[in-house]
Amino acid sequence: MEISHRAKDFQPIMDEAEAIFKELLDIPEGYSVLFLGGGASLQFCQVPYNFLEKKAAYLNTGTWAKKALKEAKLFGEVVEVASSEADNYTYIPKNFDIPADADYFHFTTNNTIFGTEITKDFDTNVPLIADMSSDIFSRPVDVSKYICIYGGAQKNLSMAGVTFVVVKNDALGKVSRRIPTMLDYRTHAEKGSMFNTPPVVPIYTALQNMKWLKANGGVEAAQKRAQERAALLYGEIDRNRIFRGTAVEEDRSVMNICFVMNDEYKELEADFMQFATERGIVGIKGHRSVGGFRASCYNAMSLEGVQTLVDAMKEFEQKH
Ligand code: PLP
Repeated sequence: MEISHRAKDFQPIMDEAEAIFKELLDIPEGYSVLFLGGGASLQFCQVPYNFLEKKAAYLNTGTWAKKALKEAKLFGEVVEVASSEADNYTYIPKNFDIPADADYFHFTTNNTIFGTEITKDFDTNVPLIADMSSDIFSRPVDVSKYICIYGGAQKNLSMAGVTFVVVKNDALGKVSRRIPTMLDYRTHAEKGSMFNTPPVVPIYTALQNMKWLKANGGVEAAQKRAQERAALLYGEIDRNRIFRGTAVEEDRSVMNICFVMNDEYKELEADFMQFATERGIVGIKGHRSVGGFRASCYNAMSLEGVQTLVDAMKEFEQKH
C-alpha cells in the first residue's frame, strides 16, 4: 500500500498482471491490456471518444447498456439495434440487424441488474466492443472479434478501484477528433498503464486473483463452476412453488441469478429475507428495478454457498 508505482518492486507486479490477463483470456498479439481508474462508467464515454467517428450500433439490454448508449450519443450517430426495455429487460433481443457501416457494435455481455447474459461472441463484420464488467473470466472469449473489452474489476477480477481495458492497438487513432490526453487509450497503452499513478493495490489484488484462477483451471474451469452453481440454483427456483425466476430461461445469467416470490406468496418476501439472513446468507436483495432477490454468483462464490441458499429455500417452502 505504501510503495510508489515507480518503485522497482511495483513494475514486475504490473508486468505480470498484464501478462497473466492476456494468458487467461487468450488475447492474441496486437492488443494492449490497460489498468485504469474511473470505473466502467468512464468507459461509456471513453469508448466513443476513441472509436466513434460517424455511427455506432448499441444493443439495449439493461441499465448499464442504456447508460453506455446515452454517452455515445454525445459523440455521433447512435443506432439502437434492439431493446428489451419494454419488457423490463427480461430477455436478450434476437434477430436484429447491425448496420454494416457502423464503426463498432457495443453490447453488455452480462446484465448485472436483470440477470440476463450473452455468452456468445456475435458473428458480424462490424468490430465488437463489450462491457464485460460482471462476467469477465467466467468463460472463454474470442478476443480477435473485439476492438475493445472493458469492465470494472470489482466483480470477477479484483476489488473496486481499477478498470480493465483490452484494446486492439491498430484500431486506435482512427477518429478525427482531438482526444484529451488522459482519455486517449494510446496514452496508457504507450506507457504501460503508468502515465499517471495507477491504483496499485487493486492491481496487486487482481494479480493474486488471476494467479488463483490460473492455478484453478483458468476460464474453462471457471465456466464449469459457474454453470454448476447456476444449474443448482435455477433448478431450485423452478422446482420450488414459492419462487420464480425473472429472466427468460434461454437468456439466464450464470453470474446474477434473479428471482421473486410467486404472486400468491408475495407478502412473504421480507420473511424470506429474514429467514435467509438468519442462515448467514447476505447480499441477496434484488435491485429495486427488479425487486425480489439476486444471488450474485461471481467466480469467488462456492457451490456450498449456493447450496446453503437452496437449502434455505427448501426449508422455507416446507414451513409454508
Ligand atoms: N457495467 C456493468 C455491466 C455493471 O454491472 C456495472 C456496475 O455494476 C457498471 C458497468 C458500472 O461500473 P462502475 O461502477 O465501475 O462504473
